[in-house]
Amino acid sequence: SAKAEGKNTFRFYRQTMNEELTERVQLENELRKALERGEFFLVYQPQMDIASGRIVGVEALIRWRHGEKGLVSPADFIPLAEETGMIVPIGEWVLRTACRQAKRWHGAGLADLRMSVNLSSRQFMSQDLADSIRRIIQETGFDPGLLDLEITESMTLDVGRAIATLHQLKQLGVSISIDDFGTGYSSLSYLKNFPVDRLKIDRSFISQMLSDTNDRSIVSTIIALAHNLNLQVVAEGVETDAQSAFLASHGCDEMQGYLISKPLPEEDIHRLVLQRVH
Ligand code: C2E
Ligand code: MG
Ligand code: MG
Ligand code: MG
Repeated sequence: SAKAEGKNTFRFYRQTMNEELTERVQLENELRKALERGEFFLVYQPQMDIASGRIVGVEALIRWRHGEKGLVSPADFIPLAEETGMIVPIGEWVLRTACRQAKRWHGAGLADLRMSVNLSSRQFMSQDLADSIRRIIQETGFDPGLLDLEITESMTLDVGRAIATLHQLKQLGVSISIDDFGTGYSSLSYLKNFPVDRLKIDRSFISQMLSDTNDRSIVSTIIALAHNLNLQVVAEGVETDAQSAFLASHGCDEMQGYLISKPLPEEDIHRLVLQRVH
């Protein structure tokens, strides 16, 4: 009967929900254990100054070497880490590891290499963020002027709060970039009130710009907008010489993408940076 069917549907639904909940709790535990066991590591993707061809910075990107599943990409665990709150200790680990590594590079001759670190929205909203970053800067002895924090437009929806947080961060001496720029929903007027330093044009515009005139207009407009507001502009996901040439001709400051290099383990960065300098 319909009634029995409804009951079965309900039972099935409840069972699915339980399974989902169990899976979620398991994953949260796995994330906690992964942090304790040292299963996370960072790779670094170079950022090139277009005019000089020099590598001026790297972006730290997290990876998870999972016991059974192998390499897990951030797209598959950052959202869950965010939901469960585990992103806060994981994010601190990323910041500390990245600052320590950058400090080592500085000691080994890469004196002014900038280090960019992604912040998650939960981290950005945490009351403790500025204190935590101050502690990490003190502990590692890293020059805060070379630390760059990447936020996304979605984190700035609570405008008042975002401005306050950004001012606290700026007081530490770090720079701020807006990541995936152009994909969020916030209004442009915030750009003039927010103490940010750099816009990173989202890869989706770059990848289509040579075949799609709208994307091409968006890219050249973001470059002009950034420069009119005295901001630097970085293109993400540059894969071809033709894209690079277009960006150069429009005065884009920096680029990042597979054309320059995929994200690399720490031991490969030193060689790459020195190669490009000479
Ligand atoms: P994102 O910050 O926008 O990082 C750029 C992503 O694009 C990276 O993916 C990078 O490997 C990829 N990429 C770079 N150049 C190219 C290219 O030329 N072509 C293509 N197809 N892809 C390119 P990844 O490492 O998988 O990271 C994905 C996202 O996960 C990041 O996007 C960021 O939002 C997040 N993420 C990574 N590490 C962290 C972290 O430590 N903390 C937080 N909160 N988020 C992180
Ligand atoms: Mg980023
Ligand atoms: Mg990005
Ligand atoms: Mg992205």
